[in-house]
Amino acid sequence: MKIEGKTAEAFVSEVSQDIVSHTLHEAPESWPALRQALREHFGETAYRRWFENLHASGNDDVMTLKLPTRFMRDWVEAHYGDTIRTLWRQLIRNGRIEFGVSAPILKKPDAAPALNPAAMPGMPAGDALAAPLAAGECDLDPRFTFDNFVVGKPNELAYAAARRVADSDTPGFNPLFLYGGVGLGKTHLMHAIAWHIRRHYPQRRVIYMSAEKFMYQFVRALRYKDTVAFKDQFRSVDVLMIDDVQFIGGKDTTQEEFFHTFNALVDRNRQVIISADKSPQDLDRMEERLRSRLGWGLVADLHPATYELRLGILHAKAEKLGCQVPDKVMEFLAHKITSNVRELEGALNRIAAHAQLVGRTISLEMTQDVLADLLRANDRRITIDEIQKKVAEHYNIRLSDMHSARRARQVARPRQVAMYLAKQLTPRSLPEIGRKFGGRDHTTVIHAVRKIEELSAYDAAFKEDVELLRRLLQG
Ligand code: ADP
Ligand code: MG
Repeated sequence: MKIEGKTAEAFVSEVSQDIVSHTLHEAPESWPALRQALREHFGETAYRRWFENLHASGNDDVMTLKLPTRFMRDWVEAHYGDTIRTLWRQLIRNGRIEFGVSAPILKKPDAAPALNPAAMPGMPAGDALAAPLAAGECDLDPRFTFDNFVVGKPNELAYAAARRVADSDTPGFNPLFLYGGVGLGKTHLMHAIAWHIRRHYPQRRVIYMSAEKFMYQFVRALRYKDTVAFKDQFRSVDVLMIDDVQFIGGKDTTQEEFFHTFNALVDRNRQVIISADKSPQDLDRMEERLRSRLGWGLVADLHPATYELRLGILHAKAEKLGCQVPDKVMEFLAHKITSNVRELEGALNRIAAHAQLVGRTISLEMTQDVLADLLRANDRRITIDEIQKKVAEHYNIRLSDMHSARRARQVARPRQVAMYLAKQLTPRSLPEIGRKFGGRDHTTVIHAVRKIEELSAYDAAFKEDVELLRRLLQG
């Protein structure tokens, strides 16, 4: 068993060497603000798992964030590093972040206590080997049912597929692959499937697990040299759901393990349901054979909610909250908050809570007032991811080509357009933009911007094209 080229033994001994004595430092002044931003950005679950007990030291200019083990540090830096740095720079201009390792445990030659996950902040406590590995009630959000899911054009295929899968005992399409941007209802649909099966077919065994948890359990199993128990939990399962599978990308052994689990279940005619933020072929940190295998069943994408769907969702949620919201306010929200359903819901919750607290009825003025910051953010927020996606679609190239090293004109030019638009439409710095495009240098971004300006100056059709993209993104 190997982790990034190391044997499991080497990995375990490295983890124990990571246990260094702990020195207390003053936390940087703006650390609490960053912590809050992390919580809002990543959501409560991820926050608890990875960030709750981060140890911050240094100062606002150069802050060091320490995690209990090297594995956690690598994981957090690889998956969240860019975003954390971006969030930090929104607070502290030019602020730098380093990642390190610390453990609130004194060094011990035989590192047994240090390897107890209960000692790891944010990790599920308790005896790892005794802990049940199957998905418990607590993993499922009671609000995420089919009844509470509002169906519209952008999600009807995914919804129909989810219903079908939930009601059939032999897999019609295997796997069902749900993909779409953040906050569009992937997790909601998966939980809905699980609730439905639990209620109507209680004898069927369902496991729902985030890809992060899959990884974490797998690494923990390696560490305890108990991969058998890890594998066993999947053996008798009828339906396996792995959420946010893009997180499995990059880690070779976990991919391998996932691939085996996946194949074993599909071969035995068990239903597998996967979600990701990209289509299978765009999962660029995923091995080719796994990518193609994931696309074998039904691939259903969730598109961003249209105005009608947003309005529909608002009506459904307001009714659930039992709160009176004037149509004008609903329309205003559906019109203004376009980023994703989660934010839309958050906005409605906020005005409902506010109205209740101060005993005011909900009005348009009050809404604008209470949501001022959110509305501003929705006005200007265009992300590099969106730009890449739109531009790739427009020029009919693969999203992964935005990050790839390919230099062929037909991919290089659209990539330059995307860099140009990223510079124009987002507040990101040149190095940040470069990083988002497959780790390119900031000079490459400068070159791209110049090139596009140059081309626009003498090629009117090209200029129009870029302008069209800009309008699409801003619209
Ligand atoms: P994802 O997993 O795609 O990032 P979630 O499933 O977590 O998104 O959805 C984010 C929030 O939006 C959840 O609270 C979910 O209930 C809600 N939501 C998303 N789509 C719908 C929908 N079509 N109808 C009702 N609620 C929705
Ligand atoms: Mg989700």
